[in-house]
Parts: sequence; C-alpha cells; structure tokens
Amino acid sequence: MQHRAVIGLGSNKGDRGFYLQSARFLIEQELGSIVLRSSVIETPSWGFKASPFLNQVIVMETSLGPLELLDGLQAIERKLGRTQKSFVKDGKPVYHDRTIDLDILDYDRMQYHDDRLTLPHPHIAERDFVLASLNELNINLTDHEDTI
Ligand code: ADP
Ligand code: MG
Repeated sequence: MQHRAVIGLGSNKGDRGFYLQSARFLIEQELGSIVLRSSVIETPSWGFKASPFLNQVIVMETSLGPLELLDGLQAIERKLGRTQKSFVKDGKPVYHDRTIDLDILDYDRMQYHDDRLTLPHPHIAERDFVLASLNELNINLTDHEDTI
C-alpha cells in the first residue's frame, strides 16, 4: 500500500544546495518516489541565531509506515553528516546548525504522538517557509480541500 508523506528539507551548513539535492537523491533510492517538489527558498534561521537556511518541501509516495519513514530519514540525516539533534533545556528547545534536517510534516493526514514522532509536525504553522512552500504546491494541511 502506498502512503503519501509531505517532507520538509532544510540545510544551513556547508554546501546547502548539495545537501538538499543529495537528500532528495537518497530519499528516492531508499524510501520512495518524489511526486511533487516546491522551489528551494532561502529563509532566515528560526529558533536560533545562525546562518540562513535553504528550505524545500516535497511530497513523496512510500510503502513504509510512519516510524520506518522517520528511521529512514534519520539514517539519511546521519549519512549526510548531521551530527547533533535538537534537545530541550530548561523547557526551551536548543537548536544547532545542520547540514540537513528532514521533517515529516504530514503522513496520510494521520494524527500520531509518541516520544519519537508527532504528526502532523507541531511547528508547521510557525515556520513561514513551510506555509509558503505548501501554498506553492497547493497543499493545505489544515483542511481537506487541497489537491493531494
Ligand atoms: P527540529 O527538526 O525540530 O529542528 P530535530 O531534527 O533535531 O529538531 O528533531 C528532534 C526530534 O524530533 C527527532 O529526534 C524526532 O524523533 C522528533 N520528531 C517528532 N516529530 C517529528 C516529525 N514529524 N518529523 C521529524 N522528526 C520528528
Ligand atoms: Mg528535524
């Protein structure tokens, strides 16, 4: 059975365009096929003071379940040199520069929560670039009237 996942890609360290391109390549090799992709846009860093990001949103089809997909995306993050995870300190998230960040924004409109995965992604509405990219792809994750 094929599932539809919306993935947010971000990079703010090193050759950012190369990391986005490599992530797309590895996603297609290992996890499923990319059916839609937004433009790549440059956005100021959110949550921490750092270099600007290149961001993109893609829609993919995959036979993997949501946790398997998260495992696969995290394996690609590690392969592309992501070394540090965000974590919470004194109740606030601590972010780091990252060669690549791969977030599951949506998976079959599923609502899910455990200590590894929250669906839909909790920060969609706070990050303008995500909304802009979703808009470009004509995807509205807050209602069911869009094209996917
Ligand atoms: P962020 O993406 O918020 O900047 P990280 O990429 O370091 O931070 O992710 C921190 C943790 O968020 C990951 O270890 C992962 O288990 C968890 N997580 C929860 N929900 C999701 C999701 N929808 N997509 C990706 N990661 C998620
Ligand atoms: Mg992430």
